[in-house]
Amino acid sequence: MEKAKRMKRKAFVAQELCVACGCCVKVCPMGAIQIMKGIMAAVVLQKTISM
Ligand code: SF4
Repeated sequence: MEKAKRMKRKAFVAQELCVACGCCVKVCPMGAIQIMKGIMAAVVLQKTISM
């Protein structure tokens, strides 16, 4: 059986849609999302598993 090839994926925030609710901060298992200045979520790339 051939091994499925995994595609690299990178987390990102759709800035035009983010309302800084913080839901993604609570569920991210790596703690890689922060709310910046109370207005928008941002991914801390150094904490993601893709780095
Ligand atoms: S804080 Fe996170 S869950 Fe909330 S709107 Fe922004 S990206 Fe979506």
